[in-house]
Amino acid sequence: MRSLDPDGVLAGVPRARLATLPTPLERGPELPGGARLWVKRDDLTGLGAGGNKVRKLEFLCGEAIAVGARSLVTVGAAQSNHCRATAAAGTVLGLEVHLVMSGDRPERPEGNQLLDLLFGAQLHFVGCPESHWGELEIAREDLTAELAGTGAAPHSIPIGGSTPTGALGYLAGSLELAAQCRAAGIEPAAIVHASSSGGTHAGLVAGRALLRARREHAAPILAIGVAKGVLAGHPDIADLATAALDLLASSHVPVPGSESRPSTERAEPAVTPDDIEVDGRWLGGEYAEPTRAGDDAVRWAARNGGWVLDRTYTGKGCSGLLGAAAEGRWGPGDDVVFVHTGGLPAVFTTGGAPAPA
Ligand SMILES: *Cc1c(COP(=O)(O)O)cnc(C)c1O
Repeated sequence: MRSLDPDGVLAGVPRARLATLPTPLERGPELPGGARLWVKRDDLTGLGAGGNKVRKLEFLCGEAIAVGARSLVTVGAAQSNHCRATAAAGTVLGLEVHLVMSGDRPERPEGNQLLDLLFGAQLHFVGCPESHWGELEIAREDLTAELAGTGAAPHSIPIGGSTPTGALGYLAGSLELAAQCRAAGIEPAAIVHASSSGGTHAGLVAGRALLRARREHAAPILAIGVAKGVLAGHPDIADLATAALDLLASSHVPVPGSESRPSTERAEPAVTPDDIEVDGRWLGGEYAEPTRAGDDAVRWAARNGGWVLDRTYTGKGCSGLLGAAAEGRWGPGDDVVFVHTGGLPAVFTTGGAPAPA
């Protein structure tokens, strides 16, 4: 089987090297029903306490530098991992960072907010509740316009970094994971992850389409929804994934020799509606509101693998994984990959972890 060269595929796209890659693919315990669990450790992407946003920021910051930006503006909830990762990226790239955040300035910043300030970012509080994503996006656009007027050359990044450019981070991540699965001799029955703003999901789906076009194993993606109505600027995940593939095609630089390959060998990658599966049953009441199943999953992961999950994203994501396994979706002989998307700093905030027992 021909092996994919992720960097060759993405060679024409501006990229800032921010993450420590590849992240490990770790063997885990047996899931309910007997499938084997593997964990893709994207909590270990390195920069500024890691997590999935660092992969997206490699391409988002590559784009910012390519257009001559001098500052970054983005937006999120108080414990936004995306804001924290952007603050870290800005500081290593020499770009000023402005973060538009829900809620009010806290007396004592905790977790991600403490790190935002430590990385030197400027925080702008909107005062609205966390899940008022539309209101937050408008505030980001207003601040961007204001900064543009002062000559700060801002590059504005929508919530979660979930643009076609940001999704390329998980297109690359998908190819990286596929190579690791090949090396481990497994063909996963599913890749499961927590999803909110949709860029991780869209990137994995785009990667799946690319793998399928190359007749390689293309595992189904199961997204566990941990927020409602976050996707900004795109009608749906399939649309965002397709936009990421279009962006890749438009920036493609042919690798020497590849032009001579017969065109029958590869099909055009295309996203199909049945590539998209979002299980929304594990969200509970609202974004960042803990659930009993999520808290059980946090404890399960801690005791079975020494993995630290958070209550907003990865805990609920893992509850969806354990729930699907318990429903009999996979069985002995199946390999299932859970993408650990990070979220560590929020664990060390008030209420950030469930009772240990
Ligand atoms: C942002 C985030 C997610 C969800 O990723 P999206 O691309 O926004 O859907 C999952 N887990 C953690 C820890 C995150 O910070």
